[in-house]
Amino acid sequence: MQFRDLKKQYQVLKADMDQAMLDAVASGAFIMGKQVKELEASLAEYVGVKHCVSCANGTDALTLALKVWDVKAGDAVFVPDFTFFASAEVISLEGATPVFVDVDADTFNIDVKSLERAIEKVKAEGKLTPKVVITVDLFGLPADYDAIRKTADKYELLILEDGAQGFGGEINGKRACSFGDISTTSFFPAKPLGCYGDGGAVFTDNDEWAVVLDSLRVHGKGSFKYDNVRIGVNSRLDTLQAAILNVKFDAFKNYEVEDINKAADLYTEKLKGVVKTPIVPEGYYSSWAQYTITLENREQRDGLQAFLKEQGIPSMVYYPKPLHEQTAYFSLGYGKGTNPVTEKLCETVLSLPLHPYITEEEVQKVCSGIEIFLKK
Ligand SMILES: *Cc1c(COP(=O)(O)O)cnc(C)c1O
Repeated sequence: MQFRDLKKQYQVLKADMDQAMLDAVASGAFIMGKQVKELEASLAEYVGVKHCVSCANGTDALTLALKVWDVKAGDAVFVPDFTFFASAEVISLEGATPVFVDVDADTFNIDVKSLERAIEKVKAEGKLTPKVVITVDLFGLPADYDAIRKTADKYELLILEDGAQGFGGEINGKRACSFGDISTTSFFPAKPLGCYGDGGAVFTDNDEWAVVLDSLRVHGKGSFKYDNVRIGVNSRLDTLQAAILNVKFDAFKNYEVEDINKAADLYTEKLKGVVKTPIVPEGYYSSWAQYTITLENREQRDGLQAFLKEQGIPSMVYYPKPLHEQTAYFSLGYGKGTNPVTEKLCETVLSLPLHPYITEEEVQKVCSGIEIFLKK
């Protein structure tokens, strides 16, 4: 059994995929070919924003957004403590200070009360200027944007939606990657919409920021490539990856998001009363980057993972450490007990195999394994 079966997806898409890759190579336009523009237009339309600017990966997408806003030393950027390292790394790379915020135990997303407390604390200390909140749509579920927007308005913060795992999710029909002042995603192969290498994109409705994003990703270009008006980076999406994504995006829209939701629902139905399953609030729709259950304690979680492995069932711990406990962030001086929900989740979560091509038999096998272990 595969955790996320990308080989199976390729077999299903093979005819169109092979043609698209051959066409891209034959065209000779390896950088910024027409496939890139096509992809950006269709992603912007799907998300429901004016601009999509593709780039080299999801981490760069976040960096580009922070650069547009001139985030720098002395700025505080709030970020959930329970997420992939990149969500915070980009803040430090710009010289700003990440402030780690606790999450909600049911949705795994940023807890708005903790956010308010963190902002108040930074203001009271008076050393840093609160500037941005990076929200993360963890495991495919959009964060609580109604509440986040209210808090952001109250404290005049910009919202950067890290939709690396969230692409395809919705709140009341409004799509993920449209909730931030700027939003980003990643096309890393295992993400909901992945390519065959690295890739990413930035989304915004703001015309001026879109121009700056387009400039920043090509060495701060001005009217043409050898006119450089600001310090930028080299962060473009390859034509080949765009061609691959154009094929994958059709499958994603037409059936993959629906199929992965059916598989997730099946897990939830079969695991009812057995273990704590992920919660999707009313009006929310997840793109299920991960299906994550919560066990009682670390011993039970680690025991279950080992038991499943013996049965040939892969599982993953996303994430084993709060960001504030990462060695790279020791110098910020956070201690144990800083964010209790995050600390507990890191000891108790387990993500199960899930992808649009998983079979009912496979889901059944995983659920039976969990039931047998927990009844022992
Ligand atoms: C994967 C991921 C990123 C980084 O994306 P890359 O394309 O790997 O650079 C950022 N944030 C979150 C939440 C992610 O899951």
